[in-house]
Amino acid sequence: MSHQTPNSILQIIATPIGNMDDITLRALAAFKSCDVIAAEDTRHTRRLLLHHQIDKPLMSCHGFNEASRVNQILDRLGRGERVALVSDAGTPTISDPGSRIIRAVIDAGHAVEVIPGACALIAGLTGSGLSCDQFHFVGFLPRKTGSRKNALRKLESLSGSIITYESPYRICGLLEDIAALWPDAQVVVARELTKKFEEYWRGTATEVAARSLKQKILGEFVVIFQLETACKKGTQPL
Ligand code: SAM
Repeated sequence: MSHQTPNSILQIIATPIGNMDDITLRALAAFKSCDVIAAEDTRHTRRLLLHHQIDKPLMSCHGFNEASRVNQILDRLGRGERVALVSDAGTPTISDPGSRIIRAVIDAGHAVEVIPGACALIAGLTGSGLSCDQFHFVGFLPRKTGSRKNALRKLESLSGSIITYESPYRICGLLEDIAALWPDAQVVVARELTKKFEEYWRGTATEVAARSLKQKILGEFVVIFQLETACKKGTQPL
């Protein structure tokens, strides 16, 4: 069903997390009808637009200039323009910039609309086979092992699945820390979702951590784990 989109609107648009075809028809229509696209990295978004044969003006809008872009976006909306907001991959604001602009647009009384689509945490959780009834997304955990273990211990009382994002530089460290705290926790690593080398590593924390050490680590990762069973067996001392 289609509905009329008002002029003077901020459209928050999810873009692919790897496969350029993972974009909705609504997203493509919104790109075509907007006045400008506020993009985390304009070069990155231009490649996506080129793939879908769309030509639109872009303005850069990333974590470091978000505050100063707010007024420009509000000015445009004040003139009745339509502004599309995208991040480099997936859903804007999810471990990505965008929240500050959305808040300011709402506070100024303009309409916002979400055009949903890819999101790595939902894709990873869905393919993990772990419980999707209840889940907790904790974004990127601290980089250093001491603070990361402290952050992990605070999750111990949570039921359901816990989802984190991690970079190739720290994935081994994260898996080792989970294994050190809860060797029997069920862990799934979703690597390179929607891309050529998409794969899942599944097993206990100890098994998955051992596997990560055996190979050269490249790519993007979502880590999903469940603590209920592991915690019944007792947490390992730090
Ligand atoms: N906004 C994005 C979303 O909706 O998922 C997340 C952006 S965050 C800066 C980037 C992180 O998301 C990566 O470091 C990785 O942990 C995860 N990620 C993004 N794309 C992924 C993919 N194709 N496969 C696995 N993880 C991915």
